[in-house]
Amino acid sequence: MRILVVEDEKQLNEALCKLLESEHYAVDRCYDGQEAWEHLAGADYDAVILDIMLPKVDGLTLLHRLREKGSAVPVLLLTARDSIEDRVEGLDAGADDYLVKPFAGEELLARIRVLIRKQSKNLTNKLQVADLVMDVSKRQVFRGGKELFLSGREYAILEYLMRNQGIILSRQRIEDHIWNYDYEGGSNVVDVYIRKLRKLIDEGYTPKLIHTVRNVGYVLREQP
Ligand code: CA
Repeated sequence: MRILVVEDEKQLNEALCKLLESEHYAVDRCYDGQEAWEHLAGADYDAVILDIMLPKVDGLTLLHRLREKGSAVPVLLLTARDSIEDRVEGLDAGADDYLVKPFAGEELLARIRVLIRKQSKNLTNKLQVADLVMDVSKRQVFRGGKELFLSGREYAILEYLMRNQGIILSRQRIEDHIWNYDYEGGSNVVDVYIRKLRKLIDEGYTPKLIHTVRNVGYVLREQP
């Protein structure tokens, strides 16, 4: 899952990115509204954390433009304590949620989970395909009731596959949602991780859940 952080306060921006990265999100950061607009035009984000008071283009203007363009990307607004009007305008303009500064990191993470959950139409923080279960709030994975231990990147890819179960995903699409702009890419990095994931979640279990679709990509589903 890939998140864009738009916040001009350098320290807060840094803290937000660190927090999100510690939860294995791929994170891109921006410090003004213009830069954010360019990022949003060039990548497909799973959520945006958007400060309202920003240089160049403010958060509310950016949000209006985004929704006018037809973008449905989930947006969490960051607002000052005394700006009720901003929050109302933000929600009316199509923000999905807001947090009042200062806020606790744990709460921000929980709000992000809700936004991503709604986007993938899950009602809870548990994702399931056959007997493969992922508890997103505890970051645990089970197959057949047995806990599996995944690295951060393996977990991130599996989460993306599970949220898109039954959908054939190209290598490029997987790459775009798991790595940020800093990542330079390698031709077969997705294949390498899929191989590792297969070992972890499919080896010794039936049915196999990760399927290769020749010349297209991968799909996670129960049916062969
Ligand atoms: Ca600001």
